[in-house]
Amino acid sequence: MSAMRNVGVGGAVLAAVALAGCSSDEYPDGSTMASLADAGAVTVGIKYDQPLFGELDDAGVPQGFDVEVARMIAAELGIDEDGITWVEAVSGEREEMLSGGDADFIVATYTMSSERKEVVGFAGPYYVAGQSLLTRTDDASVASVTDLADKQVCSVDGSTAARTVEQLAPEANLVLFDDYGACLDALLAGQVDVLTTDDVILAGYAAEADGALRLVGGNFTSEPYGIGVALADDEFRLWINDVLEEAIDDGRWKDAWDSTAGAVLPDPQQPHLDRY
Ligand code: GLU
Repeated sequence: MSAMRNVGVGGAVLAAVALAGCSSDEYPDGSTMASLADAGAVTVGIKYDQPLFGELDDAGVPQGFDVEVARMIAAELGIDEDGITWVEAVSGEREEMLSGGDADFIVATYTMSSERKEVVGFAGPYYVAGQSLLTRTDDASVASVTDLADKQVCSVDGSTAARTVEQLAPEANLVLFDDYGACLDALLAGQVDVLTTDDVILAGYAAEADGALRLVGGNFTSEPYGIGVALADDEFRLWINDVLEEAIDDGRWKDAWDSTAGAVLPDPQQPHLDRY
């Protein structure tokens, strides 16, 4: 829903307001959309250490597909880069950040699991990933999730990936950190044997490792990425679904992909929104 399309024929005054930035007039009174558009400011949770999806570049500017999706949603509210406050949303803190109001929404490789849907709301999915394994290229001892017994397997606290290791490879020695960057360092230093999480996160690390790391084991879960919002805010959740649907239809979603993760990863399947 762009500002202009909702103005209607003859809405010259409204059009002028819309051109100057989004007016809260186009949103229901008291809605999150109205209050964010009015404030011209939004706080967005992203990852800081995941190339391709959410990473800070050398100048401290966020880059990646998640970041572009977040910018698209903010733009619909008439909020540009100056109005966005980016905050780091590590995996284990996302639910608390949303319920505590520390972020207005979170776009951070965030799987729409049924457990999490009890605690937060999700718009999406805007992408579907799958869990995989990353090892050092010179280590031939791990080829699949069935090879993890007695291995040092690193993942992140509060992630679906850690939970899946507990279920599929209970004999593995699970090593948990707060973020994937710490796991990556441990893998490169030989302190752990495997880093496991979504394939697209691992692909970003592999692409930057000059051949030292490789993905193995294929995908053994499905991880539909959603945009997290506060649990009770169905209105905002459903509005974000509308924004996503329009962006998928008019090509902005694909453009966002092509300019970020698409540099390394194959074209994604068009996602089907889960408007629960
Ligand atoms: N998508 C999974 C999750 O939401 C793993 C990636 C992550 O930790 O962000 O838990």
